Amino acid sequence: MTALVFIGTFVFMEFVAWATHKYVMHGFLWSLHKDHHVKEPGFFEKNDAFFLIFAVPSMLSIMFGTFYGWELLNAAGFGILAYGIAYFLVHEVFIHQRFKWLRNSNITYLKAARRAHKMHHKHLTKHDGESFGMLLFPFKYFLEERKRMKQSKTS
Ligand SMILES: [Zn+2]
Ligand SMILES: [Zn+2]
Ligand SMILES: [Zn+2]
Repeated sequence: MTALVFIGTFVFMEFVAWATHKYVMHGFLWSLHKDHHVKEPGFFEKNDAFFLIFAVPSMLSIMFGTFYGWELLNAAGFGILAYGIAYFLVHEVFIHQRFKWLRNSNITYLKAARRAHKMHHKHLTKHDGESFGMLLFPFKYFLEERKRMKQSKTS
């Protein structure tokens, strides 16, 4: 059961991230997200504040879950944490290369995720966005990327 809650929370977080990105970050908190679309000098972005915002429910769930011995709450807290780590690795490291760790990959899924997110970044304003998800994105990007990789192999 705890494994189920852990995985369920992880998947649910992708939906939360999508909705937050679409309706909050590109909504009334655009002021915090803007510098992720229109780069400003310096390593940190105001946008990084969202890591702290999402860390709060995770920390509270782990804390109270441990304190009261509520295993399922604990599992949910770790599910949010795991999503945060995945988001960091895929979004900050692999897609935006803020750290020079994972520069290239032959994994079609990762390359498609990157392309889908780059499409999101084509938009420099608050409105008219697309591809708000991170780990889940329109299937067409996956198909396109697979085609591209096949072509580069044969040529
Ligand atoms: Zn955005
Ligand atoms: Zn981005
Ligand atoms: Zn956007």
